[in-house]
Amino acid sequence: MSDIFDCKMCGTCCEGRGGIVVSPKDLTRLARFLKLSEDQVIERYAEYAGSKLKLRNADNGCCIFFAKDQGCQVHAGKPDICRAWPFFRGNLVDAESFAMARSFCPGINSQISHEEFVQAGLTYLRKENLLAHDASHEANALIVQ
Ligand code: SF4
Ligand code: SF4
Repeated sequence: MSDIFDCKMCGTCCEGRGGIVVSPKDLTRLARFLKLSEDQVIERYAEYAGSKLKLRNADNGCCIFFAKDQGCQVHAGKPDICRAWPFFRGNLVDAESFAMARSFCPGINSQISHEEFVQAGLTYLRKENLLAHDASHEANALIVQ
């Protein structure tokens, strides 16, 4: 995988109001990691957007768990959507989205083709059990037909 994608820990993808979806599976993992109840995690760190639970952003616009110069503060407990980047559906099905992702994420090998990216991405998502199926509670970016 490192010849396709190797995160440089720059934190760019943790900035901005991205709306990190917290699926029921993610909530259980995050609560265990933080040693809190699921209700406490929701109360302190998340908010509902329709039927989906999402991580809140800090006042600086970054994910509430992102610390400048330190990165993700919940790395081992982070949601599936964070584990899956950059292999989101949009980047898998659309070469232009892939090119845009590659232009802002220095972890994506700048030499690989879209086909190589798709092949590696699908293998990774399946191996790590990151594919989603429930559009009401899971991230659309992980629902890959
Ligand atoms: S933008 Fe890419 S390289 Fe930077 S932290 Fe995110 S995944 Fe890693
Ligand atoms: S949970 Fe961690 S990896 Fe995911 S957006 Fe927040 S800081 Fe980034």
